[in-house]
Amino acid sequence: MDKQPSRATLSCLALCFLFTSASAQQNAPSKIIALRASRMLDVKSGSIVRDPVILIQDEKITAVGASLKVPAGAEVVDLGDATLLPGLIDCHTHLMARISDDPQGYGLTLLTKSQAFRALEGAADARVTLRAGFTAVRDVESEGSGYADVALRDAINQGLVDGPRMQVATRGIAAVGKYFPFDLSPDLVDFPTGAQMISGPEEARRAAREQIGHGANLLKVYADWGVPTLTIDEIRPIVEEAHKSKLKVAAHADSPEGIRNALTAGVDSIEHGHQADRSSFELIKQKNAFWVPTIGYYFYAVDTAKSPQPRKHMEETLQRARQNISTARELGVKIANGFDPASAEEHGKNAREIIAMTKLGLPPLEAIRAATANASELMGWQEKIGSIETGKYADIIAVSGDPIADIGELEHVKFVMKGGVVVKNEFATH
Ligand SMILES: [Zn+2]
Repeated sequence: MDKQPSRATLSCLALCFLFTSASAQQNAPSKIIALRASRMLDVKSGSIVRDPVILIQDEKITAVGASLKVPAGAEVVDLGDATLLPGLIDCHTHLMARISDDPQGYGLTLLTKSQAFRALEGAADARVTLRAGFTAVRDVESEGSGYADVALRDAINQGLVDGPRMQVATRGIAAVGKYFPFDLSPDLVDFPTGAQMISGPEEARRAAREQIGHGANLLKVYADWGVPTLTIDEIRPIVEEAHKSKLKVAAHADSPEGIRNALTAGVDSIEHGHQADRSSFELIKQKNAFWVPTIGYYFYAVDTAKSPQPRKHMEETLQRARQNISTARELGVKIANGFDPASAEEHGKNAREIIAMTKLGLPPLEAIRAATANASELMGWQEKIGSIETGKYADIIAVSGDPIADIGELEHVKFVMKGGVVVKNEFATH
């Protein structure tokens, strides 16, 4: 005899609970917030709205416009002479990664830090990222911390720790021997790895199913690492499994061949593409995929390169990035913002990517769109975030000046609201 409560009993309990909490919410009318400032950037039209008022209730924007009437009893948050923008989005983070620049930094991280500690580091990184104005991130591999990214995402969603809305890729999937840590003794057979290493289509499919089963919101594959790695036949089952579950696949791909293999297998975004050629961008466009350039690191590191060889590599990468941005714009390829932070120093400096893209030829409005509307579309969250519109989450930031005239303002975000909750306000309120 089965002593377990039946499924019907359990779902009745769940439903009763839901109805109870729903009616409790109805009894207590929720607060209306009226957020106002001097200017608001409408990222879709590119125009500046003067004297905007945004009405917010229950996490969402209920009305937005110039000089809207503020309802009686609303809590007014007046930011004075500020510019409002949608919360920024970073589509390529590694919140769980604080890898040192020691040549064996990756292996040392795996050797010395527990996954519990990695999760706590992730919580700290999530907090600084949110406070920098990034209200959503697409975290594209936990870098050897297993499923700690799932735990962090869930802890944020439950309000246990502060952080951006997260989509997580969990472990990532790479070809055996083609991802960190490199140069390990072959005797260390059980040493943990960064990505989940696979060989062959069946292992690829199993890895995809495991990661989706453990809570991935998207999957990440490595299509090359210096040389092409995963084959089309290995990437295809991963894409099949993801798409069946309505999830997307991000592909690390630098080389034209890696990009071609990944797109032929059906991935949804090309991360990096630093060696891409014109045919790469033609294929990205043809497949309606996104490009996430991740160029900010190079832009800021080139001046402090310790020796001529890495400096030369960085200069060449930046030169190609300038050409690639021009080609992508000419062909109408969708660009999404992603900084690729993976060290303690980089987390929270995500705006550097937006600034670097403008220095390499992307007009400021397009760079801001890459970090708002385009990014939300890549995440499949275009109905929820990415612009300040009625019905969307009240994920809103503010800066002092005009970010179109001075994109550097985005490095100094002074006000952050996520889901209608003020996370940070450095403006004097009136
Ligand atoms: Zn990365």
